[in-house]
Amino acid sequence: MFQNLIFDWSGTLVDDLGPVLEATNHVLSIYGLPAMDREQFRRRFRLPYMDFYAEVLPDIPLAELESHFRPAFDQALTPVTILPHAAEKLAWCSALGIRSFVLTSMDTIAFERQLHDFGLAHHFEATYSGVLDKREVIHQIIAHHHLDPKKTAFVGDMTHDVETARHGGVSSIAVLTGYNHAEVLAAARPDLTVPDLKVLKDLWSLRLDQHRPTVTVGALLYNDHAEILLVKTPKWKNLWGIPGGKIERGETMLHALQREMLEETGIEIDRVQFVLAQDSIDSPQFMRSQHFVLLNYLAHAQSTEVVLNHEATEYRWINLLDAYDLPLNEATKFLLDHIQHHSLLPTPDA
Ligand SMILES: [Mg+2]
Repeated sequence: MFQNLIFDWSGTLVDDLGPVLEATNHVLSIYGLPAMDREQFRRRFRLPYMDFYAEVLPDIPLAELESHFRPAFDQALTPVTILPHAAEKLAWCSALGIRSFVLTSMDTIAFERQLHDFGLAHHFEATYSGVLDKREVIHQIIAHHHLDPKKTAFVGDMTHDVETARHGGVSSIAVLTGYNHAEVLAAARPDLTVPDLKVLKDLWSLRLDQHRPTVTVGALLYNDHAEILLVKTPKWKNLWGIPGGKIERGETMLHALQREMLEETGIEIDRVQFVLAQDSIDSPQFMRSQHFVLLNYLAHAQSTEVVLNHEATEYRWINLLDAYDLPLNEATKFLLDHIQHHSLLPTPDA
């Protein structure tokens, strides 16, 4: 999906909303304002944080506010924690060779301390902290590290992160683990919104799977009269072919074949013999663009009584040569040619 990920820190990889809220409420109390609860804060807080304070406490200089905020944050009772799934997600990125960066407005001393305390430093190629307006730095990161914007995403929990991504021409991924309420974030229209980093990782794995070929097993079944079984299926544009399907994770090829035959034809098989493997890459005869590796077998049907499932509409027991009169899908035709050429089909039982 992406080769480079730039992560926000607070609310994305670590949870420091508790101490930030404590410190913010301390600042508000100094100026006689009521405390906010978590939900109120998530609806109102925004970056750059001078904008938030300009709205909440206009006319108070930022330096003065920070002089109250910093010690209150350091003395806050609620601990800063690493968010669930953050470490796994970063390890997963490292394993896949995805380049990771941090871009955060957290002041550098606090950030470096957390980075060290949580043992995450080795995951990042570079980190940028103490950045009040991330939009001013995103281009610099992209240029300095030669990142292709099309293959880069900024992952963050706030509207400002989405705006920063847009400003840098990279994709924006919003997580709901942090400072902005889901409604506030949605209004910024991120390219992708996930509840947390685990879902991001899972979605990503799913996409990677779809980018790889799918391995399938299929068999030409024959009966005691040396007739073969063909089925007509809408998946292959109503052409005729052999029954078969995908191998499940953890399943052997043979078990997948036995299962698929039973599911699609109701037939138990024996005398299973591997015949050949075929590529089927975006066949126009298949219902959608897909890359299959087809493992083709020959197997004896223990009965001739066929029970189709929803995948096929018709079946026929037929002599091999007569099968060519049916409109066959190209992979099945290739298999039949091979079986005929090498005389692989047993002669009828006496
Ligand atoms: Mg954040």
